[in-house]
Amino acid sequence: MKKQVSTPEEKREKKRAADVKWRRENPEKVRESQAKWRSKNPEKQRAGIAKWHLENPEKHRASVAKWRRENPDKHRANVAKWRRENPEKVRAATAKYKRENAESTHAYQAKYSRENREKERVRVEKYRHVNRVEINARAAKRYLENTEKERARRIKYRRENVEIIRTKAAKRRRENPEKVRAADAKWRRENPEKMRAHQAKYQRANPEKFVVKSHLRRARVVTAPGKHTATDVKKQLAAQGGVCFYCSIPLTKYHVEHKTPLCRGGSNGPENIVCACPTCNLRKGKLTEEEFRAKLAQKKAA
Ligand SMILES: [Zn+2]
Repeated sequence: MKKQVSTPEEKREKKRAADVKWRRENPEKVRESQAKWRSKNPEKQRAGIAKWHLENPEKHRASVAKWRRENPDKHRANVAKWRRENPEKVRAATAKYKRENAESTHAYQAKYSRENREKERVRVEKYRHVNRVEINARAAKRYLENTEKERARRIKYRRENVEIIRTKAAKRRRENPEKVRAADAKWRRENPEKMRAHQAKYQRANPEKFVVKSHLRRARVVTAPGKHTATDVKKQLAAQGGVCFYCSIPLTKYHVEHKTPLCRGGSNGPENIVCACPTCNLRKGKLTEEEFRAKLAQKKAA
């Protein structure tokens, strides 16, 4: 029998085959030794993985996709975690995406808000409430810096959204009647000029109402008992010390006021007339002095 002599090449081959066989037969041990190596060489382990990823981008992508498909919950959680930890990057990426896809973004947003009107309304309202201080400050700044432009923009908005504005105002009034009344009164007190202009404008726009009113008024003045003169008014103003009969603010412009309105049977004589600031006169309306003072006291107490 001829003795078999192995070449070094054959020896290496044999050893490799034996190794492969051993590995196949001892998977546990293989895993163990790999784990041991990894825990001892974390850097090398990471570098090796990175290298493999670089050299096998397709396989890497496929394996990542597979893992994500098989672990949707974990994947979602990972993404959420990453987003929480990298808000700047998320913002930048979102902005970039929107810039690059402006059209489809707008279309999507429009579609979304069309289909989720109620949700969107609640979200916007909540956002505005939470950020109202900043929003108001920004609006005020914008207004100061571009007064003309802003004024035009607001006028345009008001013209184009009459219904929305009316509905909102009605809602506010319904939900916070006291607050709205107080705000209105404050505005009127602080803007007497505008108030007068507004009334004049309203009167011009609705002449029929005022013709009837002034006719009625003239008729009442004519038929009412008593009569006062300009001197009576001057005397009364001096007797009041030049302040409003009701609220005591110094009078520049004043209305001659009937303590008991003519329409409630009051006289037009000097004993029934006082000088009142326009605000009090308008607010008093058809109330008697007693009723109006009660109303004022109630306001003060509130
Ligand atoms: Zn007054």
